[in-house]
Amino acid sequence: MKIKKASALGFCFGVRRAIEVVESGAEEYGPIDSLGSVVHNPVVVDKLDNKGVRVVQGLEQVESGTIAVTAHGRGPQIVDEASRRGLRLIDATCPIVRKSQKAAQKLVHDGFKLIIYGEEDHPEVRGVLAWTDGKGVAILDPESSIDIPRRKVALLSQTTKSEESFAEFVARFVAHNIGRFNELRIINTTCPETDERYHAARELAAESDLILVVGGRNSANTRKLAQTCAGAGVETHHIETAGEIEPAWLQGREVVGVTAGASTPDESIDEVVRRLRELDRQGKSERRRRRPQPAAAAT
Ligand code: SF4
Repeated sequence: MKIKKASALGFCFGVRRAIEVVESGAEEYGPIDSLGSVVHNPVVVDKLDNKGVRVVQGLEQVESGTIAVTAHGRGPQIVDEASRRGLRLIDATCPIVRKSQKAAQKLVHDGFKLIIYGEEDHPEVRGVLAWTDGKGVAILDPESSIDIPRRKVALLSQTTKSEESFAEFVARFVAHNIGRFNELRIINTTCPETDERYHAARELAAESDLILVVGGRNSANTRKLAQTCAGAGVETHHIETAGEIEPAWLQGREVVGVTAGASTPDESIDEVVRRLRELDRQGKSERRRRRPQPAAAAT
């Protein structure tokens, strides 16, 4: 059995950077509180917890005196509130997300109704919307009914959506709403790193007869990777750890592909590959054991 890793998988640069920022913050200032998980991955969250980075859900839960904003970013209100409470703020917002926030802020300032193609309850989307002073909205269905007060519309995407799905959203949005606006601005805020992972996953699916997608079940982009592979017609399993691999999945497989979401650490991917090799070895020796032995020659 051949084990193939996707050409692009695992931690994106924004997540690597955020982890470094919070780790060095904890080294410098002692324990810190992170506003939400630094990444959507329980393995990383546990590791960071051991290094003094605790997850809190709101400023009122902060005990350390230092609060970290994760790669997903937050609205300006958090900065104001943190300073009002006398908290030190460590900002690990991904620079690509920051660009989205700035674009959103400028567009609403210029009179646009801002529409984000994305999940309204995703932390990054909530963070970008927080810069729009209530003049932005997030939708997944381009035919959702939307109020467009000044006939000026701007479309942005959640960074982890694929370029392809954003293009489709834009086309359907225009077809449905043409006539309701005079001006349309489109800013492609999809993240090239995520897109690279989707492309690599499709390539991998074309070459594999089983795919394992490694990553937190609460990670939107890991779930999307799993959907992409399954959509290509390959049996796909979304797992968080190597321990979840069922030996039965591997029976009769020639090529097993492994990919991982942008929040999955290298260790989790390596562990999955190690476990696959081990199960393959066990499978081979089991088959050898069961092979009928040639009859002993008569003497
Ligand atoms: S997926 Fe892209 S936008 Fe999101 S944190 Fe990673 S690099 Fe930044």
